[in-house]
Amino acid sequence: MSSQTYFPRVSVTRAVVTGGAGFVGSRLCEALVDSGAEVVCVDNLLTGAIENLGALRGRGALRFVRSDIAEDGFTSPAVRAALRPGVDLVMHLASPASPVDYLEHPLETLDVGSRGTRAALDLAQEHGARLVLASTSEVYGDPQVHPQREEYWGNVSSVGPRSVYDESKRFAEALVSGYRRTLGTDTGIVRIFNTYGPRMREHDGRVVPTFIRQALAGEPLTVAGDGSQTRSLCYVDDMVAGLLAFARSGHPGPMNLGNPHELTVRRIAEDVIDATGSRSRIDHIERPVDDPGMRCPDITLARTELGWEPGVTWPDGLSRTVGWFRRRGQEAA
Ligand code: NAD
Ligand code: UDP
Repeated sequence: MSSQTYFPRVSVTRAVVTGGAGFVGSRLCEALVDSGAEVVCVDNLLTGAIENLGALRGRGALRFVRSDIAEDGFTSPAVRAALRPGVDLVMHLASPASPVDYLEHPLETLDVGSRGTRAALDLAQEHGARLVLASTSEVYGDPQVHPQREEYWGNVSSVGPRSVYDESKRFAEALVSGYRRTLGTDTGIVRIFNTYGPRMREHDGRVVPTFIRQALAGEPLTVAGDGSQTRSLCYVDDMVAGLLAFARSGHPGPMNLGNPHELTVRRIAEDVIDATGSRSRIDHIERPVDDPGMRCPDITLARTELGWEPGVTWPDGLSRTVGWFRRRGQEAA
């Protein structure tokens, strides 16, 4: 089996989404159900929340099972029962994703990337299903090539604080590639670049929800360093459309998914202040260790192979996200 062999396109009737109660996973569960699929969401709620699946409550097409896939694999009686009718797609998103989260849960992050990924691969193999690994732009580390193409091997510290996430995802990619080559499993790897939107936790530590929370509270926005480092931010609906297109395509990846519109962190802070109409000032805090200096996806492969590209502009996505945070704040008051 060549690692580049395409499998046939997948028509999805029953999908498992690991990490389906998280920010991206919950939107993915909704999109799968909207497309007519039945979905089994397996999540231990480490960084996710059952409320994220609220829009699917009462729709019989979703089953939620609370389970730690690194500890229990897919062996608990509740999971086995939910999986009995079969599975044709496993979307493997379970993992802390925010730097604050993975630094708080370093061993859980390593476990879910290693043991959790192996369990998800075994599940796919058992059912003859396609497995899609939600990998990350962090596999490129602090990149020395810009923008990042899939061929770039990256610049990653194996012992720095971020390594628990970066190396866990790199190991997961290696595991997926090993199953594909050795067992012929239908696998795909997507490398997700910074994604933002409604349902991010206001305290998850990532830049967009942090700045919006601070701006709405009239607190200073905490820009790390001089704010000249860059990120390229993709609105969550675009990301979910890309994930679905990739899942159905049979493409092996790795494939970058993200929005190539690159912004400095300082510009992100200024735009959040404008979008919220806040009077907050900008404060500078220490840059985290190994914080990548620049990040921007080359999405030529996704454009060519999937016909996918992001459609939601940063001002539009930011305004939708600010609106969601405002409504949430009013509901909580
Ligand atoms: P998130 O933290 O909101 O969601 C992750 C979900 O995984 C949570 O619901 C969490 O409870 C669950 N989980 C964690 N460990 C688990 C375990 N052992 N068993 C079962 N469930 C477990 O994060 P997100 O932003 O939605 O990210 C989803 C995926 O996409 C992650 O794999 C992440 O690495 C990847 N990704 C996201 C981004 C981004 O910008 N959002 C960027 C790159 C990669
Ligand atoms: N960042 C910041 N202030 C914050 C949170 C993050 O300046 O309060 C910076 C962070 O140092 C990084 C960028 O924003 O340079 C993106 O950080 P995030 O945690 O969102 O994602 P990642 O580092 O994983 O890309």
